[in-house]
This record gives sequence, structure tokens and C-alpha cells, in this order.
Amino acid sequence: MNYTGKLKQTVTEKFEYIPKANVQTFGCVQNENDSEKIRGILAQSGYEISDNFEVSDIVIFNTCAIRENAELKIFGNIGKLKALKAENPNMIVAVCGCMVMQPHIVEKIKKSYPFVDIVFGVNSIEDLPHIVYNWYVNNKRQVSNPEVKTEIVEDIPVYRESKSKATISIMYGCDNFCSYCIVPYVRGRERSRKPADILEEFTQLVNEGYKDITLLGQNVDSYGKNLDENIDFADLLNMLCKVEGDYVLHFMSSHPKDITKKVIDTIRDNPKISRQIHLPVQSGNDRILSLMNRRYTVQQYKDIINYAKEQIPDVGFSSDIIVGFPGETFEEYLDTENLVKEINFTQLFTFIYSKRTGTKAATMEDDTSHKEKSERLNRLVKIQQDIFFEYLNSFKGQTVRALVEERKGNTYSARMANTLVVHFESDKENLMDEFVKLKVTGKKGTVLTADLIIN
Ligand code: SF4
Repeated sequence: MNYTGKLKQTVTEKFEYIPKANVQTFGCVQNENDSEKIRGILAQSGYEISDNFEVSDIVIFNTCAIRENAELKIFGNIGKLKALKAENPNMIVAVCGCMVMQPHIVEKIKKSYPFVDIVFGVNSIEDLPHIVYNWYVNNKRQVSNPEVKTEIVEDIPVYRESKSKATISIMYGCDNFCSYCIVPYVRGRERSRKPADILEEFTQLVNEGYKDITLLGQNVDSYGKNLDENIDFADLLNMLCKVEGDYVLHFMSSHPKDITKKVIDTIRDNPKISRQIHLPVQSGNDRILSLMNRRYTVQQYKDIINYAKEQIPDVGFSSDIIVGFPGETFEEYLDTENLVKEINFTQLFTFIYSKRTGTKAATMEDDTSHKEKSERLNRLVKIQQDIFFEYLNSFKGQTVRALVEERKGNTYSARMANTLVVHFESDKENLMDEFVKLKVTGKKGTVLTADLIIN
């Protein structure tokens, strides 16, 4: 039963105006991608997409469970809706995403947030028209533990804000069970989309003029493992790069235990693939990596980096690091510092360990104070900042290519394939969503400055 049509009819009968829908996203790019589908479904069901929750008739929080402070922030935002809902009982407040895949959170919403009407799971976005239709018909709360579904649903409408940048999910879920991570419990087992479906979506985007496309997966390197056809991630990259067009192809996230020389060689041989690789290392100490259940050693990690730097001289690596993992000594933390100094990451996402209910690490003894962990984090941030500024300085005088993303007055903001942001001045029109050639003149804070090169 297609509930999109039924919901559209109900919405048209119920409202004398075109109702507005607001979707707020917390967390990772995968959640952003899910939110684009939620907006796509709501737009097809008769809603106008709005970025203002105060004037919206349905507000959906697409949540994240990766760290405790993320959840606290989300509940703070949900709380803001209480007064609005009291004023407008027809307003629907809904919560979805990874956070509600945890039973203790659903209980909290049931008890402490009576104005939340709907809870639905990360893997049942396609059921949204039916769920909202039911709410309008029965006007009954639908707050129950979402199930973790395994089948992949294709052809879900997508509402994208950008005209040049897009993300494509190539797979869902994760089988790695890193001991600190909640993702495998909330997003389920790994399952890859069929290559033909990915190729169709990719080709359509390129034909629509998208120039910066990112392939998404919790661990893209294990793409294809559950498929009948014999295909791996490198094959998928090669297949997509055969699509004619002027675009940059990115992917995230890779896993050091699964990334292959074949993937590195495929990047080397395809200039359309960004030379920026996100490869989360998490720690520079083998004992901690083993407690994290990462299943590689520091030396194995370095071997991948060194092979890539040999094959692709302008390759850059970004990474994720957790400091203060349970039991991490100061000496073991220093191993992480030394690794960061040695590898020269172009970008580093650093976090203090956050205990997640239900994960293995949550049962581990942790006697390091939060103060001590924050001091370690601040040291690492300072070290990486110096590395980053040196990296920025290395572009001075270079001619670079970048995709224009934003304009404020005559100041344009563009992004290079390595994700660095460049600002330049111009009164030229029609540069938005186009590739431009720039001569780097310097930097301002964390962005490069440049002059536009007119061909
Ligand atoms: S690879 Fe590890 S950290 Fe990444 S999503 Fe899977 S379990 Fe979490």
C-alpha cells in the first residue's frame, strides 16, 4: 500500500495552507543522508520543507548516539518544542535516528517527553508516510522500540539542498564491533546496495550537474561482502569512474584492517577520485587498539599510509582519535601523540572517550579523571593545529581547483578536492556550484585565500 498518496490527501484535506516540515539532523554524514530521504518523502507527501521549526507543522529530530553529550544536546532541543506543541496541538513532534534504537532512550521519551508523538527507527524511513498518516487518523502516540531491519529499500525520494554536492550511501550497518562503538547495535549488520543501483543513482547525479559526490558507509572497504556478484570496493570505484563527467569522487569511512592496496592503486589510477582519504586510527598504541577491538597494529596502519604516499605523492590522510580510552596510561597516550607527529594528518577529529551503554568498553575499568583526559585532548589539538597550519602554508603560490559552494557579497567560498576551504573575491556572477581555478595567496585562520584565475 502506497501511503504517500494517502498522506498527501489527508494533509491537503487537513490544512488550508501547504504545511511545513522541518528536519533537524544531529551526528554524521550518514544521518545527513538519511535526513535528505526524510525530507524527500515529506516533500512528496505534500509538505513544504522549512529550516524553521517554529513555523513547522511537523518537526523531526534525526538523532545521533555516538557520544553522551550528543544525546544531552538533542534532548535540550526536543525540550524546546514543549511550548510550541502546547500552542499548536496539530503539530507533530517526531524523533528518529540512532539514539532511539536504544530501549532506555525510548523509555525516557515515553516518560519524560509526553509531547513527542512519534518515534521511528533508522532503517524504517520508508515507512514514514504510513506512520504519519496513522497519527493523523488515530491521533495516538507511536512511541515504541524501533526494530533493526535488514533489507535495503531503493528508490526513496531524496531532497538535496545543494546543487553541486551530494552523498550516496553504498552500504549500511557495521560488523566490526569496536568495543567503544554503539553503531553496530543501532544500525545493524553490514549490507551493501547492488552495484547497478549505485551506478544508476551516481550517473543520474552526474547528469544533473553534481560535481562533488561522496560514497558513504560505516566501513566502505567491506563493500560487496554480502552480495552474490563478486565485487569489492575497488571494483565499485572503477565502475563509477567510467561515468563521463567533471566531478570529484570521495568516500568515507575506510577501516585500516580492510583497506587494500587494490583500493590505493585504484585511487592512483583514477584522477577523479579525491586524494584525501579518511582513515580513522583511534589510538597510536597497540594495547589500546586491541582493547578497542580495532584488529590492526600501529605498524600495519603506518604500512598503509607509507604505501599510499609512495603510490600517490599528493595523498592526504584525515583521521579520528579517541583519547582517554579506559585504562589508557599517559605513556600510551604519548604513543598517539608521536604517531600524529609522524604521519602529519591533514585533518584530525579528536574526541574524549564517551561511555556508551551496551558496548564492551562500558564494562571496562576507567580510573583516569576527566580533567586528565581533557589535558591530553588539548595537547593533541595543539599539536595537530601546528601541523594543519604548516599544511595550509604549503599551498601558498600554488594554482588549485575548487568547487564554489557559497557567496557572501563579493566573497566566494570554494572547496578543494582535499576538502580545504578557499576564499576569494570577485564580482563575477554564475560561479556558484562551478569549478574555478585559483592562485593561493595565503591563509586567514583555517581557510586559504586566493585570487581567481580568469581563463
Ligand atoms: S568500524 Fe568500529 S567505529 Fe566504525 S562504525 Fe563500525 S564499530 Fe563503529
